[in-house]
Amino acid sequence: MKSLKKILEGNNLINKLNNNPLNTINTDRMEQNEHYLCPMCQDRGLVLENDTAYPCTCMQQKKLENQFRSARISKALLTCRLEKFDLNYYISSNEANLSSAKRALDASKLFINNYLKQPYGLGLLFTGPVGSGKTFLAASIANELMLNDRQVLFLVVPDLLDELRAAYKSDINEFDLLDTARTVPVLILDDLGAHNYTDWTRNRLYSIINYRMNELLPTIITTNLSLDEMEDYLGSRTTSRLVQMSRIFRLNTEDIRLRKYKEREQKK
Ligand SMILES: [Zn+2]
Repeated sequence: MKSLKKILEGNNLINKLNNNPLNTINTDRMEQNEHYLCPMCQDRGLVLENDTAYPCTCMQQKKLENQFRSARISKALLTCRLEKFDLNYYISSNEANLSSAKRALDASKLFINNYLKQPYGLGLLFTGPVGSGKTFLAASIANELMLNDRQVLFLVVPDLLDELRAAYKSDINEFDLLDTARTVPVLILDDLGAHNYTDWTRNRLYSIINYRMNELLPTIITTNLSLDEMEDYLGSRTTSRLVQMSRIFRLNTEDIRLRKYKEREQKK
């Protein structure tokens, strides 16, 4: 369990406690309670029980929400968990697809276990067609790491390219996002596909990948490109680095989203 001091410092609660007007001013409690997000602790983050202060349950929740927000992971992906990864979707296609899905799942579990012990080393690269479960695996890993207090950044590549281009055009300093992507302990690059790359965006991607490889910071990539295609779109120096810094897994099945849709339709 986290030390109380750390939780307090992280949320600046020591100051809040010391300066809280409720400590000195006698106010109507009921009326005051309406102004608090958490009536249990009146936003102080602590509850008193027999003269001992305990962190309020709202603190853990708040911390988690902040973490997810700064990780930029979309709400739709927050519920992804490895234990929900359904191998049944791969059984019908063929034996090879099932066993490669199992390998990808095992590698994801292993990645998390290893990372929690030693936060440096190889990342993962999931290739496969649309709807084959790549993003699900990547998001599950991200969520699991965040639940274990690890810092993650989840970037959808087309959005990243848009943001970099917008920053470039408007002279905004794109360095912040770029720097975060370079240095964040775990980076997820989702949907590294056949987008409109320019030399400029290609160079930016290269600088992210190259930095992370040199610093042994793990990156998790999902792509529907083959390595040859990747070389065409990103260039050989980026592709060769990606291959060096990743364990590569292929996922293949009928589009899982389409299949879930069909199942829903049949039940109607
Ligand atoms: Zn509370």
